[in-house]
Amino acid sequence: MSGKLSAFVTRIFGKSSTSLPVPDIHTREHHEISRKQLSRAALDVLYGLHKGGFDAYLVGGCLRDILTGYTPKDFDVVTNATPEEAKPLFRRSRIIGRRFRLVHVMFGRETIEVSTFRALTSDHADDDHSQSDGGLILRDNVYGSIEEDALRRDFTINALYYNIADFALYDFVGSLKDIERKLIRLIGDPEQRYREDPVRMLRAARFAAKLNFELEASTEKPIRPLATLLYQVPAARLFDEVLKLFLTGHALSSVAALQRYSLFEVLFPETGKRLHDAEQKKIWQALIEQAARNTDVRIANERPVTPAFLYAVLLWPALHKRLQKHLDNGMPYAPAMSKASGQVLNEQIKVTTIPKRFSTVMREIWDLQARLDSRHGRRAEALVEHPRFRAAYDFLLLREQSGEIEPGLGEWWTQYQEADSIGRDQLVRDLGQGASSGKRRRRRPRRQNT
Ligand code: ATP
Ligand code: MG
Repeated sequence: MSGKLSAFVTRIFGKSSTSLPVPDIHTREHHEISRKQLSRAALDVLYGLHKGGFDAYLVGGCLRDILTGYTPKDFDVVTNATPEEAKPLFRRSRIIGRRFRLVHVMFGRETIEVSTFRALTSDHADDDHSQSDGGLILRDNVYGSIEEDALRRDFTINALYYNIADFALYDFVGSLKDIERKLIRLIGDPEQRYREDPVRMLRAARFAAKLNFELEASTEKPIRPLATLLYQVPAARLFDEVLKLFLTGHALSSVAALQRYSLFEVLFPETGKRLHDAEQKKIWQALIEQAARNTDVRIANERPVTPAFLYAVLLWPALHKRLQKHLDNGMPYAPAMSKASGQVLNEQIKVTTIPKRFSTVMREIWDLQARLDSRHGRRAEALVEHPRFRAAYDFLLLREQSGEIEPGLGEWWTQYQEADSIGRDQLVRDLGQGASSGKRRRRRPRRQNT
């Protein structure tokens, strides 16, 4: 990037001086962004700011997405107007945020985020601690020029600007070249940028997975050694990042990218170990990949997906190990499952939160695995009405497909769901007698074949 830093402007922010880049400006006939690809709301905000006498640009992810063939899911606007100046320009708008104040402008169901150009500060604008006792001086430090705003973004592909004044693309850091070469490149010194905000490692993996891009060598290199810095990131933020990795249509390639950069085992430590287990890794790898594939298909077909199911799968290899241990120690199945579930969840929430509404469902899916095996008498009839039956059944199919358990039970349940009531009775009768009285409760699942 240094070749692009042809202007040397010294600005004093505490103790630092910063060299600011001069943009390559691609005029409207030389780039592929057209106003037709932008939402009405985004255009209204850009024009509103422009008419108010301010600079206004689209920035970041939305431009990256359009240029790589995706439909942006939201549009971010940056401006030299302060939030206090921008807000009154729009009827339905509000100022949000404490440390970094932004304006949200609402148009119907769409919200456009308007932020003021942010400065590079010597004490890292992204660092909570240096910002925590904030106040006015701090706010002065936060606002900056468009050049500074470009340099504090994460990757070159996320740092393009579309100027509503001349419809030109402003490229400060070689963004277009990197998009063309399909490269993810951190702006600035990679190690320093990862230390400032370790989530950038996950974002690198995510964009590589989503766009099918490569990480540029110096962007890739520090990730493995620095991966455990993610443990310093609030668990709630990591949970959000996991959802973006797995529930936005590219879960399968996200799994590959996370494993490639040794990030998977940081996010899911216990399951990560199972994926390195000589005997079982094939099974668990297959389980996770199949779940990822199914998730991607569901999203492509606009069917709902839930973090609970995803997490139930991601933690199952860890749960399986703990459960087996308790069973081997002679603990009965139900308490063993309960104990193992609690332990696995407790370990995981140290890294990524799992909101209660999801962990409750995860436990139900896990508990139902054994119950799916005991189908005698009226049990199958009752089970099929369970609110979590469908998820548990899908989960069972995954376990069969991955080779964790032998196939058969899943097919039985497939038939059961398709049958009428006579067919259902027959299916239960065909299970054979002996157990139909229900006097022996078969709570233990078949011994796993692993
Ligand atoms: P998506 O919305 O698809 O996740 P995005 O790039 O729009 O991708 P956002 O989290 O919406 O991601 O962020 C908007 C923009 O803010 C990014 O394009 C990038 O320029 C900047 N940005 C986001 N997160 C960081 C970060 N951790 N460090 C530096 N800049 C960031
Ligand atoms: Mg975005």
